[in-house]
Amino acid sequence: MDERRYISVILPLKLEWEPSYYVSSEEDIRIGDRVRVMFAKRTYMGVVSETDRKPDIEAARILPALEIVRDMERVLPEEIALWRQVAEYYLCSVGEVYKAAYPAEKVNIEEARAAAIARTEQRRERIAEGIRVKIEKLRLRLDKKQQLAQKTKDGTKSKAVLIKDIEKITEEIRLSESALEAALKSVSAVRTVQGLPQMPDRGLELTRAQEDAFCQIKKGFEEAKPVMLHGITGSGKTEIYIRLAKEAIGKGKNVLYLVPEIALSRQLENRLREHFGERMMTFHSGETAASRRDTADRIRSLKSADAGSYLVLGTRSSLFLPHHNIGLIIVDEEHDGSYKQESPAPRYHGRDTALMLSVLHRSAIILGSATPSLEEMYNCLTGRHMLVELRERYHGAGSSDVEIIDTNAERRKNGMTGSFSRKLIAHIDNTVREGGQVLILRSRRAWAPAMQCEGCGEIQKCPHCNVSLSYHKGRNAMVCHYCGYTASYTGTCVKCGDRLKGLGAGTQKIEEEAAALFPHARIARLDSDTAQSGSNAREIIRRFEKGETDILVGTQILAKGFDFSRLSLVAVVAADTLLGVQDFRADEKAFHLLEQFRGRCGRRDRKGLFVIQTSQPEHPIYKRIIENEAGTFYGQLMIERKDFNFPPYSRIIEITVRDNYEDRAERMASGLAEMLKESIGHQVTGPYTPVVDRIADCHLRKIRISLKKDRFLKTAKMRLKESVKSFEKKSGYDGHITLDVDPS
Ligand code: ADP
Ligand code: ZN
Repeated sequence: MDERRYISVILPLKLEWEPSYYVSSEEDIRIGDRVRVMFAKRTYMGVVSETDRKPDIEAARILPALEIVRDMERVLPEEIALWRQVAEYYLCSVGEVYKAAYPAEKVNIEEARAAAIARTEQRRERIAEGIRVKIEKLRLRLDKKQQLAQKTKDGTKSKAVLIKDIEKITEEIRLSESALEAALKSVSAVRTVQGLPQMPDRGLELTRAQEDAFCQIKKGFEEAKPVMLHGITGSGKTEIYIRLAKEAIGKGKNVLYLVPEIALSRQLENRLREHFGERMMTFHSGETAASRRDTADRIRSLKSADAGSYLVLGTRSSLFLPHHNIGLIIVDEEHDGSYKQESPAPRYHGRDTALMLSVLHRSAIILGSATPSLEEMYNCLTGRHMLVELRERYHGAGSSDVEIIDTNAERRKNGMTGSFSRKLIAHIDNTVREGGQVLILRSRRAWAPAMQCEGCGEIQKCPHCNVSLSYHKGRNAMVCHYCGYTASYTGTCVKCGDRLKGLGAGTQKIEEEAAALFPHARIARLDSDTAQSGSNAREIIRRFEKGETDILVGTQILAKGFDFSRLSLVAVVAADTLLGVQDFRADEKAFHLLEQFRGRCGRRDRKGLFVIQTSQPEHPIYKRIIENEAGTFYGQLMIERKDFNFPPYSRIIEITVRDNYEDRAERMASGLAEMLKESIGHQVTGPYTPVVDRIADCHLRKIRISLKKDRFLKTAKMRLKESVKSFEKKSGYDGHITLDVDPS
């Protein structure tokens, strides 16, 4: 009888265990190999997580692996190690992380494999074509030189130079031809021949303050501590990252540069390209699946080829690339909420996962922000991370002046025209007249965030969600921002047929108002509606950068890392919406956002003006912004969090129950909460009904667990997961409950 080898396999499923299969003992099979297997009557592409294991069930019941897929790349041990850590921390299955890391392969195996083969072919062809073109060019150059040489007199200096050139080009052609031959044979071979091109030679001088920070950072790295770089906008954090990255690459190490959102960070991309050239790759969800796979393949092939190090600029998903030999991880804008994945599992945070990755690779890691998260401040307070500060701007100018405008008072004096106060109108007028640029910020997109009936007062709601529909004028549509439901706009109430009026103004309406108020100004709008295609967004930014637009209206998308040299006025037209949210992080988030907005203006040698229109001018947050006293504000928030035992002093896990039937959602959530209260105790709050309690026909109920941050935390989390699992099993309630660790 044929001998068997037993293997464990990770499947792309919400499955807590790794089932066993067998292969013939002759097979060369290793951890990370892809295998095609049957599970619950369906075939999946799995990843071998263990070989030669003793099966824990009867051998007769173990199925054979259908195939070891040799034409797909092997998953690296470092990748699997990260999956396991993420799964453990975020209370999900390893398979769910695998699915997130290899999204293309979850459904159709044949397609995935065909694509893998096609990709190799395409890459081979592309490389070959590149070399052919190069050879062609070299030949032309050679021809010219030879002709020139024939016309030049022997024995002269120029003749000698020409002969040398000819020799050089001939040698280059010879090398390229052998590279072409190799390329036609195999892709990995050509990588070794070609390698990565040299980095462009571009100087970088740090200022004294930056140099100091740089030395402190290196000290932190030597102590194997993560470093938190707290530097005001424009202080040169990016310059420091570049310097650190260059050093790492110089030492033959790889670099991962994480940003919260990439679609709009063209400025950063260009800046890095100048320093890293072809060694830089980008990776984010806006790229095509093929291009992302290509980047993954390139990174993987660099491991075997030993052809030089790379820098990846990417969003959180780039953490799951087949990284190897990482020397440095940079987490830019670490406070940014978009680092957190809301759905589906793994609900991971990019910054915290980056910290795990750095431990796995024993790499240095630097987190940076102008407005650090309280979590990071806490880590620095406890000494786990090292805090390094940069207090001055590179381009001299001090931080901008702040003016708070009380919209209620203005309204009483008849000083409001739509969303604009008289004072703000005057500021905008002056700025535009002097050739400066203006940014107007509003956190709601659409024309109006809600429409109300003038007759019966009914607010028009989404039929599938408990939220109001937004009116999008251009599309003449009512749209739900939660589920995407769209109905054409009739202008009349669904209940009584009376006329509708807008409640509040979204970016679209603000743009309209601005156009009426400032007829001579060139105005554009940037929000997720106009930024739907990345290229459109880039174009809007480019035009603003070039000074082809005077006023740009937009949402918080604009808070992120832009540097507009002619921007001198930034205005938040209705800051109240930033404060109103029922959430213990609301103040922190509002503070971050306002500080980031402020950071956008007056970046060069000119001092800028930051205007905030609000109906609650007495809110303490504004005082801090005016006094430029981040320290005090952080101190206060920190005390509040401690008193109420909120993060970072505790860890929160949020449980969500989703059900098409409201009564069942309510019943199950109560049952679960009760059971958890019994098993875990008083740290359980709920169930409660969230503000938006129905999304896409699903009724929602939430339970919050707050856990102490002590050495029992891990066990407590595991116990919680077990409890939820057993509740699901007992009540036959699979697929309705999700766990979110560190909800945003
Ligand atoms: P941050 O990332 O902290 O917002 P940046 O690195 O973007 O700051 O620096 C702000 C501006 O100052 C950029 O235009 C940058 O090119 C310039 N700058 C900062 N430091 C230097 C330096 N040492 N040499 C030249 N330019 C610098
Ligand atoms: Zn909806």
